[in-house]
Amino acid sequence: MENKPTEQYSWNDIAEIIREEIDAVFIVDAESNSYRAILQKGIFADMFEKSGKYHDIIEKLWFHFNNSSDAITEDYHVFVPTFGKFSGKYSKKLTLFFNGTPHAVQMMLYPLHDSDKYLIILDELDNSEYIQEFITKEKINSIQNTYLFSMYVDLIKDTTSSISVTEISDEPMNASELSYTQWRLMIVNMIFPEDQTAFLEKTAPDYLKKNLLPGRTASFDCQMQNLEGVYIWVKLIFSRVETHDEDDFRFVFMVQNIHESTVELMSTLKKYEELASKDPLTGIYNRRRTETELYKAISFKKDTQQPLSVIMIDLDHFKNVNDTYGHSAGDDVLKQLAKIAVDYLKKYNIKFGRWGGEEFLAVCLGIKLDEAVSIAEKFRLLIADTPFKTVGNFTCSIGVTEVKENEEATNAFERVDEAMYLAKSSGRNCVKIK
Ligand code: GH3
Ligand code: MG
Ligand code: MG
Repeated sequence: MENKPTEQYSWNDIAEIIREEIDAVFIVDAESNSYRAILQKGIFADMFEKSGKYHDIIEKLWFHFNNSSDAITEDYHVFVPTFGKFSGKYSKKLTLFFNGTPHAVQMMLYPLHDSDKYLIILDELDNSEYIQEFITKEKINSIQNTYLFSMYVDLIKDTTSSISVTEISDEPMNASELSYTQWRLMIVNMIFPEDQTAFLEKTAPDYLKKNLLPGRTASFDCQMQNLEGVYIWVKLIFSRVETHDEDDFRFVFMVQNIHESTVELMSTLKKYEELASKDPLTGIYNRRRTETELYKAISFKKDTQQPLSVIMIDLDHFKNVNDTYGHSAGDDVLKQLAKIAVDYLKKYNIKFGRWGGEEFLAVCLGIKLDEAVSIAEKFRLLIADTPFKTVGNFTCSIGVTEVKENEEATNAFERVDEAMYLAKSSGRNCVKIK
């Protein structure tokens, strides 16, 4: 068809364009179950008779949709009059398998109003369109995998709208009619409870206006419920349009699924943290971590008014053990003792670590002085009664103190150290209080 200015096109031209461009047009009568081909080209010329039963045409299409003989999908029924009158307009890009090869086909179905007649229009997409389609599918999948959700937000108009829906999903979706204000209050319920305050703060219009400069992107990680109601880690991304208008507060909002990488990162960090808090010889908390546990317990005590006691243990004449049996036997004793202590203290939920050399510290949250003393006394007896590998029996001296209200860790520590030295000066193998 010759090229001419748009105003010169007539209805006849349109009919001619359709004749040239479209591959098949059928008029069907569902009531009398019949059809007639008005136009038939390409694969559709071979696939369909010039006229026949409406069921045959639909069945043939659905048969070829699925490349199998048995699956006539649920969708099919919507076009069968006994399942109710179909008055919508149906359009779908689909792959028809014909003679063993796939054909990308655009199918449109127009009901002719107030009748059981339909117009079925079929058009085979050419190779380049087919490849385009394929690339788009890949692109859609990658967007869907990376971004769970995206929309435009206009803070001034207080509106939200979904971003070119066809890019994200090939299923039809309604444009959002929610205002941004409503949207925030709805979405906050899907955010992990502990992240909700931060979510409301970071998505607040005033916060975004103040912190999101034109063309800049900001993000924030939190946990959010997915469609199955499971919390996953997501990155909320806000990207403001590049604008010179100070009153233009349009931005793109995206939710990116970062669950797998975050979980992996967290477990790596946890591993490093554990490594950094362990004493290499005994495997129990090292001094730094024991100190941290003491600080944490003191701040917990302040918040909850719970009692808190500290126990310090020092092995008696340990130098002699080394001198007599060798350093390696001494190491074995420290390992064995750490294991006994961890097993014994487990039931009290006491944090136990190696303070240095042959000194150990126990942080006893929720435990008053008298109970701590009795725990320490039992432990002293347990050690004294345990025959250790190679070296046999030996003893330890123990200091106990209770952390006072509003007391700093250093003061409490000084006192427990004094108590332990008191035990040494009182003849060792005993428990003393300060
Ligand atoms: P006291 O009853 O006064 O505490 O006597 P002690 O010999 O235990 O005390 P001192 O502080 O004089 O000596 C501590 C000893 O602990 C010296 C050191 O060889 C030993 N020690 C410290 N760390 C280790 C270790 O990791 N392995 C071994 N085998 N021995 C250690
Ligand atoms: Mg010592
Ligand atoms: Mg000692």
